[in-house]
Amino acid sequence: MPTEPETDYDPTLGNKFIFVTGGVMSGLGKGITAASTGRLLSNAGFDVTAVKIDPYLNVDAGTMNPYQHGEVYVLKDGGEVDLDLGNYERFLDEDMTFDHNVTTGKAYKHVIEKERAGDYLGKTVQIIPHVTNEIKRRIREAAEGHDVCIVEVGGTVGDIEGMPFLEALRQFAHEQDDDDFLLTHVTLVPYSKNGEQKTKPTQHSVKELRSIGLQPDVLVGRCDDRLEPKTKEKIALFCDVSTDAVFSNPDVEDIYHVPLLVEEEGLDEYVMHRLDLADRALPESERDNEWRELVTQETTGEVDVALVGKYALEDAYLSIHEALKHAGLEKNVDVNVLWVDSDEMTEAHERRLEEADGIVVPGGFGSRGLDGKIEAVRYARENDVPFLGLCLGFQMAVIEYARNVLGLEGAHSAEVAPDAEHPVIDILPEQYEVEDMGGTMRLGAHETAIEPGTLAEEVYGATSCTERHRHRYEVNPEYFDAFEGEDLVFSGHSGNRMEILELEDHPYFIGTQFHPEFRSRPGRASPPFVGLLESVLATAEQREEVEA
Ligand code: GLN
Repeated sequence: MPTEPETDYDPTLGNKFIFVTGGVMSGLGKGITAASTGRLLSNAGFDVTAVKIDPYLNVDAGTMNPYQHGEVYVLKDGGEVDLDLGNYERFLDEDMTFDHNVTTGKAYKHVIEKERAGDYLGKTVQIIPHVTNEIKRRIREAAEGHDVCIVEVGGTVGDIEGMPFLEALRQFAHEQDDDDFLLTHVTLVPYSKNGEQKTKPTQHSVKELRSIGLQPDVLVGRCDDRLEPKTKEKIALFCDVSTDAVFSNPDVEDIYHVPLLVEEEGLDEYVMHRLDLADRALPESERDNEWRELVTQETTGEVDVALVGKYALEDAYLSIHEALKHAGLEKNVDVNVLWVDSDEMTEAHERRLEEADGIVVPGGFGSRGLDGKIEAVRYARENDVPFLGLCLGFQMAVIEYARNVLGLEGAHSAEVAPDAEHPVIDILPEQYEVEDMGGTMRLGAHETAIEPGTLAEEVYGATSCTERHRHRYEVNPEYFDAFEGEDLVFSGHSGNRMEILELEDHPYFIGTQFHPEFRSRPGRASPPFVGLLESVLATAEQREEVEA
């Protein structure tokens, strides 16, 4: 049996690792707990990065349905990853790369390819040590050059899929010095009928962890409220940690408040102390306070923005919700997002569209809901409602304009109507031969040149922008001339590609072939979203003046 380790592990690297596992059930928000810990360490002056482990066989998230895992998040290097990576980018204000998402599919694929290439020299290739070593190697590489690396293990402890990762984690703990490794376990603390906080699920899930050789250092209890002192004591006693290593993560309306809540209980201090970082941390008076100031500021009003999409699920458009929130933080208003079903525009949904102060048409694939999106574009265009179309939303704006302004009735996208009379949206030339659906799109950050003197230039305050992409189709060059001379302007280009469109006779009508939402951060909101809210607020002001 092959036993000798084959990692390139260099114990002198000196990174600190915080692993985060989850117990009892999924969807507890351990990603937010992990990201919040990272934010606090970064406030204290440390360079923090993150790795998300997804124990599924997909190599990446690119082919996954948003109903199962929420949106596919796109990184600057074009990696299509789990939406949790988006939370890490937003909380840490750090750009991640594809290497920061480790899936079962990726690890196995690499090992199997090496086996086929004969790299294992006749050995039996096994989960332990080959797959586990591959997992450890990926984590250590992603951590290189950072002070602290937070590693979130997706799924719930006890899942069969997660086992190779937890075994890798066990070895990791064994190989690291004690003060370079910390295991945080996030569990659920439910209430009994008579209002008592129950610790049994936590006890069971820690027992499960211990049966695979892992002892948590920190326990975080997700609960409706803060954990009571006696709940913490009980968890400490039965799970073998000290009481001050048990923290609450109560329900909050705004996930951006989680760092503040866990800070109040001293999670950051405890972690720094355990990882022997306390001496290197900035003194409290010098720590970065920007996050707290930003997320606790008073807002001065609220606006309603319609999001016209086919998924009734916030996670399917998570980054758009977040980008609207960031723009709201910048403009000091709360943004209510009203979901308008593009697939079944019932009367109620139509009313929502009409009530909204601004309209966003998001990205998407396939034919479902396109008519509703086109109708929403038309409504925004004809009624001077501030509008932002993203990727598919941009393409629908091109089609709507071609049909209803240029009179090209047969205008459509070749994605859903390959025989359209006017394929104003057509496949990218480099996609003609593609048959494999994984990772085949135009992906990641590309630069767009912005026309001077346009709304786009005003919005970005620059004559170029670099935003992330994820598409197979684009504006068909054969129709560029047809759009000339009307009030539609393509104000952003990337070579011969149309990247931004705007309308001259409209308060705010912008479409982007790219996805600006993926680069939006708290404190650094995405310009097209800020522009949308500015226009919404200006329109509201005008309305008030007229009424007065
Ligand atoms: N389906 C369209 C394309 O492939 C739009 C993609 C998107 O909105 N991300 O070009």
